[in-house]
Amino acid sequence: MTAASAERVALPHNEVRRVDPPGVTPTRPDAFFRIHLAVGVLLSIICTLLPTSVGRDVLYTVISYGCVAMMVVGIRRHKPAHSRGWWLVAAGIGIWAVGDVLWAVYTWVLDIAPAFSVADVFYLASYVVIAAGFWSFVQARRQDSDREGLIDAAIFTVGSILISWVVLMRPGLEAAEASMGAQVLATAYPLGDLLLLALLVCLLTSQGARTPAFGWLVAANALLLLADSAYQYTAMRETAYSQYVSLAWLLGYVCFAAAALHPSMRQLTDSKSGDFDTRFTRGRLLALTVASLVAPGTLLLQLALDLPLEAWAVGLSSVVLFLLVVWRMSGLLRHLDAQASQLADLARTDALTGLPNRRTSDAELARMQNRARSEGIPLCVAVLDLDHFKKFNDTFGHQAGDNLLMATATAWQERLGQAQATAGPGHQALLGRWGGEEFVLLLMGHDQQDAVRLVEALAPATPAGQSFSAGVARWDGLESATDVFARADQALYAAKTAGRAQVCAAESLNDWAVA
Ligand code: GH3
Ligand code: MG
Ligand code: MG
Repeated sequence: MTAASAERVALPHNEVRRVDPPGVTPTRPDAFFRIHLAVGVLLSIICTLLPTSVGRDVLYTVISYGCVAMMVVGIRRHKPAHSRGWWLVAAGIGIWAVGDVLWAVYTWVLDIAPAFSVADVFYLASYVVIAAGFWSFVQARRQDSDREGLIDAAIFTVGSILISWVVLMRPGLEAAEASMGAQVLATAYPLGDLLLLALLVCLLTSQGARTPAFGWLVAANALLLLADSAYQYTAMRETAYSQYVSLAWLLGYVCFAAAALHPSMRQLTDSKSGDFDTRFTRGRLLALTVASLVAPGTLLLQLALDLPLEAWAVGLSSVVLFLLVVWRMSGLLRHLDAQASQLADLARTDALTGLPNRRTSDAELARMQNRARSEGIPLCVAVLDLDHFKKFNDTFGHQAGDNLLMATATAWQERLGQAQATAGPGHQALLGRWGGEEFVLLLMGHDQQDAVRLVEALAPATPAGQSFSAGVARWDGLESATDVFARADQALYAAKTAGRAQVCAAESLNDWAVA
């Protein structure tokens, strides 16, 4: 299949009960996937229930490597565009299983239980390799630099570091006493889990599609974290290591393989540009709130339960969490500011011509009235209406009418700009679209005669030989905006009835209150 045809047949993958047309990449799991899942879960349960024995360890290893093999099968079958992440995760599980085999050899062949061994080297390397795989997925899914997503992931991770420190690392260090090797392990394993957790959160906040393969991958990582933390917790307290912990590990492997075997694994590394609103959901807000409350919560819990206080850890993590939250908020504020000014621009201008709209023209008139009153400058209002515009539309079509409105706005603006340049300071002209084919022109610093002349000068500038009629009224310094508009409108009506294509001055009021 060529790249082009592959693109053409790409179909939504979230449809249920859809028959895949021939030649199309199937998006539903096949029988092989289901058999893997059934056998994997069944064997994991059997293995968990077996008493500690060589046989149990052999079955455990068979399941681990079986899942690695299933991952390889999945990668080979679905041939994802970005396969590196999948190979790394498969290798990571394989390396972990090497540690398991070594451990079995210590137990059953050598009959020792070393505090620090080669098995630990494999286990710890495995975290790094699996994390690298996840990072590869995360990178592929983030097209634009999603700073918000990364800050969110950092907030969750810092909260988790504190919990891990209080619950696992510090007690682990205390239990390790003077043994250097045990101390290293007591911090290294929780750190490895924090690394996996951080990448899980990065994956969850990434922008790509939430396919079934994505779900299996998240579940797999979560199960590993659960199993690891539970194991460390029980091992440290020297309580009996619960065999159910290994069920979580095994099911984690089964889920990793399920993710690779699911056809939607190909879309896992498809990037998607994030829509801001879909990225900041209620759920994420809630999760961020909880993460931010971890530090004070820890302190309060320790006080309430009379546990040893972790003042330094709580203090430091509070500082970091607070800075991260403020950073995140500053991003939100910047985004809202940009959006607000965008909306304000939209609300001010007319969409077709880009001129100030009626609302803006009204506001500008009020502002000009104040200035004219205080500075004693004349202020005129002109209303301009294109002649027989309905006929123009009927003859040339609505689109041509729109184009003429746009061209008229541009031409008039240009002509007014020239007039402005020669008129000198103190003069001000504002052209707005009043609605339909009617425009309003506010002229500051021009008396009525001047204003009429200026409006008349727009006639030769109007495109396509289109004529217009206009009425001009000078504000009397006392009347309301509505009244001065009404007088300009009356003058416009007079221009229309007098045969159109002319400018009429409103009846001039004898005693000006201003000037
Ligand atoms: P008059 O000389 O008396 O002003 O005649 P007229 O046809 O211009 O006036 P009338 O008010 O009867 O019709 C105005 C027309 O303007 C009606 C409408 O089709 C057209 N019009 C209003 N707004 C728009 C617009 O945004 N785009 C286009 N293409 N036409 C518009
Ligand atoms: Mg009209
Ligand atoms: Mg008209």
